[in-house]
Amino acid sequence: MRQHIYADNAATTKLDIDAFEAMKPFLLEEYGNPSQPYFFAKKAKIAIKKARETIAECIGTEPEHIFFTSGGTESDNWAIKCYGAAPGDVKVIVTSSIEHHAILNACQSQKIQHSIHYLPVDKNGLVSPDDLDKALDWSEKPICSCMVFLASIMMANNEIGTIQPIKELAAVAHKRGASFHTDAVQAVGHIPVNVKDLDVDMLSASAHKFNGPKGVGFFYDKGRLVYPHNDGGSQEDGRRAGTENVAGIVGMAVALRKNCSKLEENQRHIRLLEDRFMGLIYQSGLDFIRNGSEHHLPGLISLSFKNQDGEKLLHRLDLMGISVSTGAACDSVNTQISHVLKAIRVPDDYVRGTIRISLGKNNTEEEVDRIANNIIKICSER
Ligand code: PLP
Repeated sequence: MRQHIYADNAATTKLDIDAFEAMKPFLLEEYGNPSQPYFFAKKAKIAIKKARETIAECIGTEPEHIFFTSGGTESDNWAIKCYGAAPGDVKVIVTSSIEHHAILNACQSQKIQHSIHYLPVDKNGLVSPDDLDKALDWSEKPICSCMVFLASIMMANNEIGTIQPIKELAAVAHKRGASFHTDAVQAVGHIPVNVKDLDVDMLSASAHKFNGPKGVGFFYDKGRLVYPHNDGGSQEDGRRAGTENVAGIVGMAVALRKNCSKLEENQRHIRLLEDRFMGLIYQSGLDFIRNGSEHHLPGLISLSFKNQDGEKLLHRLDLMGISVSTGAACDSVNTQISHVLKAIRVPDDYVRGTIRISLGKNNTEEEVDRIANNIIKICSER
């Protein structure tokens, strides 16, 4: 039987074995509720404390700024919906047109009470700091005292891999008196992320994107800029009620520590695979566009093949035991052209032929050869 090839690491990643081993005791033996005062809960409580310290260290901050959540979607919703001192604040939110739906739909839900602005991107998917500056220039417009300004721009795009100039964008936001949030779900654990160096105020991350378990993530909040988003117990300093996912939190910290300690090694390996893959595709003579900027996530390859059908390509590869993602559709349910490909204006005769290959640290040279050769074979058929 042919071996399965997984090349959809931007969708999710394989759980790291050390993360799995670290989680096991908290599922089977040390299952005490960390909020309880008795001895049996102590190991769980200590494990959460250590995980918070590890995660803080990995992104260059202090543990008190890290809040555990159920993943990227929850963290993004927290930033957008709860930014400000209180629910009554009037918000001006500036975001980009290529954000993940966790941001876009959270913004959509706010548009009746608040002012939401979507920045365009260039053909490589880059947001211009000048555009952000203009959008946050409210000097000529009426401002009420309860008005708060938030810019939320993703660190790396999940469809085309473009990495934004976050440090520059955060500086512009601060110059205009706005706070800056970044959805770093695709970036954390894959490229260097230091919140102090970047000077971001809030950041979202998700464990399953960096070889941690699903259903757990974290939110970095430098200055208590968001109000608590659910009512209940006093977990997470009273800011995110609900019994903690102890095993998930422990697994996330182990996975992040491991990925961060091998960041350069992993990046080198993945970049070599990417170059090898792209070499084969270029040599084939196929007519295609590579989407995204030069400065992109290692291994995230979005290709639009002329007059091809990305959906069909995905299913043909699937039958060959190769898992990649379609690039053109919003998601597997919504088959409209993705907002990201629209925003970067992929030409009509290419856009439907888009697929996303996202390589990870576990992929091999043999695998990328097989993916490339099968894509070439399918696209060359008449
Ligand atoms: N933000 C980005 C950029 C993502 O790629 C994803 C997941 O694909 C999310 C947010 C949502 O993360 P989660 O799956 O942890 O809810």
